[in-house]
Amino acid sequence: MELNPRIRQADIEHLEKLVGKERVSQGTSNRELHSHDESFHTPSLPDVVMWPHSTDEVSKIMKWAFEKKIPVTPWGAGSSLEGNPVPVERGIVLDFQEMDKILDIRQEDFQVDVQPGVIYKELNKKLGRYGLFFPPDPGASATIGGMIANNASGIRTVKYGATRDCILRLVVVLSDGNVFEIGTRARKSSSGYALCHLFTGSEGTLGIITEATLKLVGLPASVMAVLATFPTVKDATITVFHIMSSGLTPSAMEFLDAEVVKVLNRDRGLAMKEMPTLLMEFHGYSKRGLEEEMAFVESICQNNNCSLLDKGIGPEERNRLWEIRHLVVESIKRSHPGLLLLIMDVAVPLSRYSDMVTFIKEAVQNLTAYVFGHAGDGNIHVAIMDNPQDENRWARVKEANQKIIQKALEFEGTCTGEHGVGIGKRVFMDLEHGKSLEVMRRIKRLFDPHEIMNPGKIFP
Ligand SMILES: Cc1cc2nc3c(=O)[nH]c(=O)nc-3n(C[C@H](O)[C@H](O)[C@H](O)COP(=O)(O)OP(=O)(O)OC[C@H]3O[C@@H](n4cnc5c(N)ncnc54)[C@H](O)[C@@H]3O)c2cc1C
Repeated sequence: MELNPRIRQADIEHLEKLVGKERVSQGTSNRELHSHDESFHTPSLPDVVMWPHSTDEVSKIMKWAFEKKIPVTPWGAGSSLEGNPVPVERGIVLDFQEMDKILDIRQEDFQVDVQPGVIYKELNKKLGRYGLFFPPDPGASATIGGMIANNASGIRTVKYGATRDCILRLVVVLSDGNVFEIGTRARKSSSGYALCHLFTGSEGTLGIITEATLKLVGLPASVMAVLATFPTVKDATITVFHIMSSGLTPSAMEFLDAEVVKVLNRDRGLAMKEMPTLLMEFHGYSKRGLEEEMAFVESICQNNNCSLLDKGIGPEERNRLWEIRHLVVESIKRSHPGLLLLIMDVAVPLSRYSDMVTFIKEAVQNLTAYVFGHAGDGNIHVAIMDNPQDENRWARVKEANQKIIQKALEFEGTCTGEHGVGIGKRVFMDLEHGKSLEVMRRIKRLFDPHEIMNPGKIFP
């Protein structure tokens, strides 16, 4: 196997001494597994994959990589959608799968300390026994390290915030191997620069997260779910604005267009009405309080021509609804074998949400496209299935992508609400950030002077 010119066989032997031979692999299947995420972006093989077990091991690896100027790309579960963990400049992939310990659950503080490889669904299963949960819920089987690095969010962000809002303290290893503990265990702080916020969403380009203290939420005493269908996209999306500005605080507010519902019916054997649909959930203290909220939700929906309102859905049916919502991307992919997925992830201010969805529906009308997303956050996903080998068709897909992102920026929104920049969104960074992109470049140079941390990401 041809190695990166900067890595020699003797270097591999050195790395094996640092962590043990069994946790360093140059095997083809391991390298292939770590060459791509869930996106269409071109795979790139790393030279070597390593599975560290401790902060100390990560620090030693980074010290060595810094001296040798070898690229290092951290890896969670590889579920990203923008090529975020693809090792485009080869080098080392550090897979955190084996740093997966829940270190300390501090129930009375609503906090948990974890290693980065913990899978968030497993974490929530465990926390449920303490009456707690970690709210950001991206759906895929993501790790906490990957969620922090991408600032992931999900269906419950509308009430409880994105990952960034739930990080209190981090242990990070910088590119030169230095280890820092940043943040505190206090629920709030005005003490100096918000370094935890800086590392959250940095996609492994500033340093490596080896431990995190997460802020948790108590499980709600009562929960109620609502499914509402509407004759038009406009009716459904205007309802989102009306509910969000009414003083109600949904804990989930998802939009599915009729095409998504059709795919789910076919792929999952459902019988939902094939119309624009809102899925909502409300958390509260008592059933009575929630019923009052429900009456208000119902009146708002009816004022916007709602044609079916299924409210007060029981816990089992509700869980199934969210499970199905999480399977949207999978069902879309399964319905178009042989085609690749390009998924957009714009977010706009709520007042522009309805106009943005209307614009998108028009922009993708001649493509195989599905529109859905975390409506209560003004976050819209557009999944387009097509064949990148067909140059004409792929050019049309890219043109739609460009038009949609430009419109989101015109509406003072962002090119990515939660999937991160990775490889795919780099070209839009100038347009979105203008001169302030230079500030990000300076921060990058400060933390990573040799440009070895997940190179080829974020910056155009
Ligand atoms: C079906 C499907 C649905 C999805 N839905 C959502 C959704 O609703 N919301 C959402 O936000 N995302 C969603 N995603 C995208 C993805 O799941 C998230 O971005 C997730 O946070 C990625 O986590 P991961 O563990 O797979 O990380 P990876 O993909 O392995 O890595 C993500 C980034 O984090 C870096 N990284 C990983 N570990 C560390 C570490 N310890 N220190 C520093 N950097 C690190 C990597 O280098 C990379 O840049 C979805 C993906 C799929 C496939």
